[in-house]
Amino acid sequence: MPSDGGSRISTRRFSQPRNLHAGRGSAIDVHIDLCGQHAYAALVGGLGVRRECPDCGSIQHGRPTVDGGHISIAHAGDLHVVAHGGEPVGVDAEPDRQVEGIDAVALHRAERAVLASLEGVARAAAILQVWVAKEAALKLTGTGLRTAPETFVVRHPDGWYVEPGVIATRRIYVHRIPAEGSVIMLAGYQPAPRLVVRRRNDPANLE
Ligand SMILES: [Zn+2]
Repeated sequence: MPSDGGSRISTRRFSQPRNLHAGRGSAIDVHIDLCGQHAYAALVGGLGVRRECPDCGSIQHGRPTVDGGHISIAHAGDLHVVAHGGEPVGVDAEPDRQVEGIDAVALHRAERAVLASLEGVARAAAILQVWVAKEAALKLTGTGLRTAPETFVVRHPDGWYVEPGVIATRRIYVHRIPAEGSVIMLAGYQPAPRLVVRRRNDPANLE
């Protein structure tokens, strides 16, 4: 089942963070905020984001949490991506120029088969997309790179998803978030969430 076509993406632009869970939207809305440094700091402060490491219990690092919802955070260069909503989410982002650093051996053989017809820059870009999608899926399930990325398939010929029973009991859907200069992938359990994308520019860095 194709996952990209089912999602509705709306893009709105604000210069200041707002309280995102104050009586708006629905449970399956996913808010994706693309932030500069200052807007990011204001946003995570406003949302009350906390950290807790599943390995050592530290609150200085580890998985972010927020009261009354779910949150996932990724960074790509100067871009900070904060995804949050009423359902579990996992988001990952990479600058789309870092195509050299990713090796196809991290992919499942079924994914390599999908990419086999591509060459050069197109192949490198496709590998990066699969890689970011896999990291998003593993951030959703919470195991991160403790799960070997070549053990499961996220890129199928007909869409982006992970079948149930491999890394989660439910099917995982992966959606690409459009962003200039970065590859951003969002993973969740809903086939067609409403994706609300905002670009939060730092006051000193308005476009
Ligand atoms: Zn730790």
